[in-house]
Amino acid sequence: MPHVLHSRVLKAAALVGSGLASYARTQRSRETTILTFHGLCKDVGDPDILDWSLHLPVDIFQSTCALLSADYHVISLADLIEARASRVPLPENSVVLTFDDGYASNYELAYPILRKYHLPATVFVTTGFLDREDMLWFQRVDLALGRTRKESIDWKINGETLRLVFENRETRQQALVRLLPELKELSDTDLLNEIDRLEHALEVATPTPETMPAPMRPMTWDMLRAMSNSGLVSFGGHTHTHPILSHCDPVAMRAEITACHQRIFTETGIRPSSFSYPNGHAEDYTRETLQMVEEAGFHCACTMINGRIGPHTSLFQLPRYGSPESVWEAEATVSGAFETLKQWRQSCLKAVSLI
Ligand SMILES: [Zn+2]
Repeated sequence: MPHVLHSRVLKAAALVGSGLASYARTQRSRETTILTFHGLCKDVGDPDILDWSLHLPVDIFQSTCALLSADYHVISLADLIEARASRVPLPENSVVLTFDDGYASNYELAYPILRKYHLPATVFVTTGFLDREDMLWFQRVDLALGRTRKESIDWKINGETLRLVFENRETRQQALVRLLPELKELSDTDLLNEIDRLEHALEVATPTPETMPAPMRPMTWDMLRAMSNSGLVSFGGHTHTHPILSHCDPVAMRAEITACHQRIFTETGIRPSSFSYPNGHAEDYTRETLQMVEEAGFHCACTMINGRIGPHTSLFQLPRYGSPESVWEAEATVSGAFETLKQWRQSCLKAVSLI
């Protein structure tokens, strides 16, 4: 993990330092980039949490916002949709900020910074999480492996037996890395049963907002309303319980999408217009999902497929980038340097294959 992070930081620094980011920023100024954040944290301290990738240190968010405010045009998702509908060009180098899941830290740590720089953002909320009824399944797994007092278990899943060792933090993190992809293979019903079984076997209680570490906690509906009333932050749907939608049967899939739309409308009086697919990769939603999202009343939806937005990008499959882990990475992403490098590589490989 540290090795991967190190190479990402170096690559981003090289793209900025070499001038490629400035070049790409000029050449690709008509494209829009959407960035995805989850939670923020003050310091990466709580040993209970094994995966900190969903909780970005607030100082990196602050420097990213300073960069965007100085050199880019941060617009809202609604601006993007409106510009497409009226065929009006967007400001050059436009960027959209989004947050997934609905963490309290969006209000406590991100909102003051968004206000300081006057940057609009959209938060996609998992409504059962805000209702404090359904904790996010991946947080339950993280805390079960992080908190168990067992030394190890042999866990049978998908026809395999995984030896999960809880001797120290590193082996617990390895257990999480091995188990998560296996869990993502299961249907949504089987997944929830499997996590109940896991918590039971590891002798840990299902976490509640009161017993979870602060960075994992959901925002309250009051926090959401305060941000919504400011006019700076808008809210979109991210399902009711955060299943991978392609793993739900059609009835459950529709219920997840419409319940989420309804809960946001009931709590705010505003019909949410945007949606983001949990997990968000191409295999995590289907053509049926896109149709149901549109039928529920949403006007656009975001994926987690990396890419930039041009005039022909589908509004129900808007590509996004994950949160940058350094300000260099933020610049290499929003300037289009990563995308330029990717395309150069592809043309080089094509040229070489012709020789
Ligand atoms: Zn999510």
